[in-house]
Amino acid sequence: MSDSTTRRVSFNEPILGTPEADAVQEVLESGTIRGDGPVTQEVEEQLEEWLGIEHVFLTTSCTHALEMAMLVLDIGPGDEVIMPSFNFVSSANAVVLRGATPVFADIRPDTLNIDVEDVADKITPRTKAIVPVHYAGVSCDMNALQALADENDLYVIEDAAQGVDAYYDGAPLGTMGDIGCYSFHETKNLTCGEGGAFLTDDTELARAAELAREKGTNRSAFIRGEVDKYTWVSEGSSYIPSDILAAILNVQLSRRETIKQKRETVWTAYYDALHPLADDGPLQLPTIPDACDSNYHIFFFRVDTPQRRNTLLDVLKDHGIDASFHYIPLHSSPFGQRVTDQDADSLPHTTHCSETLIRLPLHPQLADTAEEIAARTADIVASEIQ
Ligand SMILES: *Cc1c(COP(=O)(O)O)cnc(C)c1O
Repeated sequence: MSDSTTRRVSFNEPILGTPEADAVQEVLESGTIRGDGPVTQEVEEQLEEWLGIEHVFLTTSCTHALEMAMLVLDIGPGDEVIMPSFNFVSSANAVVLRGATPVFADIRPDTLNIDVEDVADKITPRTKAIVPVHYAGVSCDMNALQALADENDLYVIEDAAQGVDAYYDGAPLGTMGDIGCYSFHETKNLTCGEGGAFLTDDTELARAAELAREKGTNRSAFIRGEVDKYTWVSEGSSYIPSDILAAILNVQLSRRETIKQKRETVWTAYYDALHPLADDGPLQLPTIPDACDSNYHIFFFRVDTPQRRNTLLDVLKDHGIDASFHYIPLHSSPFGQRVTDQDADSLPHTTHCSETLIRLPLHPQLADTAEEIAARTADIVASEIQ
């Protein structure tokens, strides 16, 4: 366990290599480097086939896919959209940018996913949609959530940024709601640096998404020969990534199984090494419900107090393990407090989990040394909690 001789365990390192470089060069040499070129089309078709969904649009980010979702569902002033407070900022921004109001729900302490009972409590006549976030690549309770959405006539927009190649009752995350949003950011399981996707089975929403994504014009229909000139037909923006990025994503998709398998190896090594410490101590390990097939995006655990968490983070870092905290709850953030009137301490699980959570380094390059890293980590954790 000597710090000076042990290689630093970095939090995230994607697999990128010669195939990605070759694919980029091929696009550069083809001369078509704009978006919606042949590579983008190929990747979208591949995703549609793999996921069994009608329409996939590559986007510049998951953030932009979420913005497109709010646009095509016509979310606007006076509307409320329910989402977890333990969340990245993108879905909240997407709602605020439309002049609508995000309403923050609590999470379950086992999966850190949205608590469906709390969602039910927060539905009002103004509620228009729910945005479940599949934290760590483990699905929300989609059966309960969809039932609640159906009963109240609400849209479901899945923030599946972390959910690529994860499943719920066999269904890929992102394909169950009215709209699903993926991220291919550098920190995600499959990456092209910055990128995302907008998914839907609904023909009308797909049509609207196509316009919104192409600056509110019907240029795509024009290219298909369906109209003889293209023009401004709706609200929109520029959400189309370059074919250069699509080429990187294309290679990453071919690495999908290897990436998931290596991540599972690391996740399982941490779980097994920490498990003996969790029996009756202050350590809480993550839960993967039976219906969920995880993509092992994050390994997290919790301790009993914020003080212990903060000390443990420092000690892990001192020993070369780049452990990290995660989201500061949105409802209690400076901007969250401006856009909602929710009390800063009204979501008890959110606050407590956020303050006691530790994420461990997890990426495919750690697979070969996973057991050694997990053992080192468990030793450090044991010395701090016992
Ligand atoms: C990463 C992430 C996003 C944002 O993805 P980008 O592609 O970087 O815009 C949104 N939501 C969640 C839950 C994420 O983890």
